[in-house]
Formats: sequence, structure tokens, C-alpha cells
Amino acid sequence: MTQIFRAANFVRELETEDFRVLTAIELGSRRFSYVPLEQISFYCRYPRPETQFRLDRLHKFGLLQRNSQLGYTGYQLIFESYDVLALHALVEKNIITAVGSPIGKGKESDVFFGQGSDGNEIALKIHRIGRTSFRKVRKLRNYVKDRKHISWLYISRLSAESEFTALKRIEPLHLETPTPIAQNRHIVAMGLIDGQELSTIPELENPKEILNEILMQVERFFLEAHMIHCDLCEFNILINPENKIRIIDWPQWEEATHPNAQSYLTRDLINIQTFFKKNYNTTFEIDEVLRTCKVID
Ligand code: ADP
Ligand code: MN
Repeated sequence: MTQIFRAANFVRELETEDFRVLTAIELGSRRFSYVPLEQISFYCRYPRPETQFRLDRLHKFGLLQRNSQLGYTGYQLIFESYDVLALHALVEKNIITAVGSPIGKGKESDVFFGQGSDGNEIALKIHRIGRTSFRKVRKLRNYVKDRKHISWLYISRLSAESEFTALKRIEPLHLETPTPIAQNRHIVAMGLIDGQELSTIPELENPKEILNEILMQVERFFLEAHMIHCDLCEFNILINPENKIRIIDWPQWEEATHPNAQSYLTRDLINIQTFFKKNYNTTFEIDEVLRTCKVID
């Protein structure tokens, strides 16, 4: 059983007290990498024996990391318990009723079908930033540089927040980027997009048109939403059977007013240029786009 289905089962089977103890550990982890019993007991307002009973139970389910090497015994959430908390919240808020099969697996996320409360299928993107991908997440690194201990769960939540903000901000442009539905912790619920990654399409019939459409969208993101994608590439562009393109995967976006805007935008454009040159022998002038976006004269 994959991790997410185990997590979905826990959402059904855990008791209110279990959720409360998990949430208490989450609160405590702002200050502690491993949260001690007294803190957990303080946050959940259960007496220590009751708290300890719940901790043992959750640990037995494999939902907690325990560490006794610190001069005290402390507890830490793991990705699975964070999944449980986020899914539970999305169910309680009536956003989803079920989690379905996987849609896609990126380097920094798992994406699943979800069932919306109105019965419609939606996409659930679970952000999973780990040590390996962290170097890439330049933007998030700035948020955490002052924190004493960095939690990967916290960084994954920041990543989800960043993507949700982006999706809301681009929505008015009607470029059919995924519709933002909700975000809780490290999970973003969004509209489902039909389409295939540009990288997996064997041969485009009209590469020049597709390229122009991509560039037009990049310009509109920049000029109308004042945003730079910052991870634009053939893996983050979906194309549907009618040749409509949708740009996805937004957590790394930056403001168009960022001091490095020119280099970020250039880097996105180089990725696109390289892909089209290599596969379709089609190219464009990067400077022309930069001029349209008024980042150079
Ligand atoms: P990552 O940062 O892990 O690359 P992506 O946002 O690119 O995350 O998502 C990974 C894959 O999941 C995508 O390449 C795509 O195939 C699929 N996917 C992501 N969002 C959606 C969506 N809203 N609808 C349908 N498929 C999606
Ligand atoms: Mn991606």
C-alpha cells in the first residue's frame, strides 16, 4: 500500500485525541526538533499519562520518530503524519472526500487524484522538499536562514504556500493554469489538468506555434501578473490533445521586480530555447522577449 493510502486510512481510523497530540507536536516543533513530553502535554492539554499513551500508540503506528539520545525523549512528525494532518484538515474543511491514484511524481512532490466534495476529480499536490532538492529551492532558503533548526516539513509547507499564492495570482489571466482550490500544510488542492508533459510528446505537429504560445504566456505572466516562473522547462508545460498549453509547478516563482529578475527570466527562456533548438530546430531571440518585458532596453 502506498504511503498516501496508508495516510488516508489513518485519517479515517485515528481518534480525535490522536489528531490533537499530532497537532501538539506540530506546534512544539517550532521550538524543538524533537518535542519533549511536557511540551506536547502542554499544547494538547492532556495530562502526561494520557499524552504518553497517545504518543506510544502513534509511535507504534509508525507515525512518529522518537529520539532518546538528547537527555530527554522527544518526538518528531514524519512526512506520513504530516500527510495525515493535512488530509484530515482538507476533509474537515469539506475540500476533499477521498484520495485516488497517483497522477505524477516529480522530484519535489507527489501528485494524486482527489475527489472534491462536489464529486469532481481534482489534483492533490503534496510537496516533499528533502535534503536533495533543497539546494534548488533558493527562494525558500531565504525564509529559513534565521531559524535554528530547519524542518523539511516546514519547508515543504512554505513551498505549498508559495505555489498556492502563485496560482491565485495567475488565475485572473485565464491562461488555464490549475485553478487553486485550497492549501493545507504541504498539500495544494487544485483543478485537474488534462495534458501531457511537453518532454514526453514524441513529435509536435506545430512546434513554432507552441513555442510562440509559451512565450506569449511567459510575457503575460511577467507583464500582467508581475511574476517569473523560475522553473520553466519542458517538464512543467502540459499540452492537451487540442494543443493547448498549461504551465504548472509554480513554487519557485519570483516577483518581476526582484533585483535578479533579468537573470531569472533569462534562465527560464534559455531552458525553452534549448529544448526547441534541440528537438525541433526552432529558435527565438531571448532579447526580444526581454525587451517586450522591459527588463532590457
Ligand atoms: P514537481 O515539482 O514535483 O515537478 P509538478 O507540479 O511539476 O511537481 O507535478 C508533477 C507532475 O504531476 C506533473 O508533471 C504533471 O504530470 C502532474 N500534475 C501536476 N499538477 C497537475 C494538475 N493540476 N493536473 C494534472 N496533472 C498534474
Ligand atoms: Mn515539475
